[in-house]
Parts: sequence; C-alpha cells; structure tokens
Amino acid sequence: MACDCITRTNEKLASRNTRLVSTLVFTKPGGEYPLIRTEQVESGRGKAKACAMLPSYCPFCGVKYKAEE
Ligand SMILES: [Zn+2]
Repeated sequence: MACDCITRTNEKLASRNTRLVSTLVFTKPGGEYPLIRTEQVESGRGKAKACAMLPSYCPFCGVKYKAEE
C-alpha cells in the first residue's frame, strides 16, 4: 500500500480491543483497504444487491492508493 495508516491505526486501537474493518483486494493494484460499509436500501425480489466501495485515497493521510500504470 502507499501508506501504513491501517497498521498504525490498528496498533493504537489495540489497547481498546478494537481494530478497523478492512478488505483485501487481490487484483492489481491489490492491497488492504479500509472498508466503507454500505447497505442495501430496498430489499426484495429483483432488487439490486448493495455494492462495495473502496476508497481511492487513504482516509487518514490522503495518499492516493492506486498507482498509475
Ligand atoms: Zn494513509
């Protein structure tokens, strides 16, 4: 990843028995991203399922996650 904010934040939260929810991405550019929780607005047959969101920039330090190729 472009920064180590997730690791450093988890180290600070550990004393409070807490950690960030994150997700691993294996496709390029892969890495660990903090999870932005989403929920399905309407449920029922034929309704689209909620999609996942990945941040393009670190929400803690602002560094761009995805490297330009
Ligand atoms: Zn960061």
